[in-house]
Amino acid sequence: MATLLNVKNNVLKSGIHYLTSDYKTRNESRSTHNGMDFVGKNGVDDIVAIASGKVTYTGYDSSGGGYWISITTNGIEHRYFHLKKGSIKVSKGDNVSKGQVIATMGDSGNATGNNLHFAIYKNGYVDPLPYLTNDFSFGTEEQDNYTTFVRDLQEAIGANVDGIAGSETLSKTPTISTSTGWNHPAVRPLQVYLQSLGYDLGNRGVDGEFGRDMKACIKKYQSDISLASIYQDGIVTAKMYTWQHLLKLK
Ligand SMILES: [Zn+2]
Repeated sequence: MATLLNVKNNVLKSGIHYLTSDYKTRNESRSTHNGMDFVGKNGVDDIVAIASGKVTYTGYDSSGGGYWISITTNGIEHRYFHLKKGSIKVSKGDNVSKGQVIATMGDSGNATGNNLHFAIYKNGYVDPLPYLTNDFSFGTEEQDNYTTFVRDLQEAIGANVDGIAGSETLSKTPTISTSTGWNHPAVRPLQVYLQSLGYDLGNRGVDGEFGRDMKACIKKYQSDISLASIYQDGIVTAKMYTWQHLLKLK
């Protein structure tokens, strides 16, 4: 019997998740089941990544899993089994985004009909349910805010959007001050991020504009990260390392 499950983080692109077999430990059942099975149409239902991360395995498991993918996010693997042969759209080393189509449902390996066997591996298999229903299962709220900031910033500055800051992202960061780039699209994600860190943005809050309140806020941030006092100038620039600190590259 299938149960319609309400999830926050889709594993099927359709958003319709019919659970046919739940995760079971030895305590709960005579036979264990190290993941959750969702049914759908073979070769039709697209499977999406439940969280952004890096592809750490794609291949064939001859012991029963069939074609499968593993994606790693903050050291936790999300694994997708019984994929349709030839449908895998990602390669080892790829960065994938939450919601990105990675393969199509199939019945490869030792599958009982068309289904996705979805599992979470974290020093052994654990119940996948919280990972489908919670926002922050892969890390703290702070980590999640940081990743959102990096992605939104990357989009605003025309960098490759993968949620991972590096030299390419840094090279595209603008200089923002009350006189330069005060309404740059990067201002809004910066404001959202600073607010999540507890900084006071002033009366206007997140408004996408870098005014005097933001200058004061950045000065406070520069002081908190112990930049030399001459660089505590309220200007967001890579030259004097403010962007490096914001992006955790320093
Ligand atoms: Zn299964």
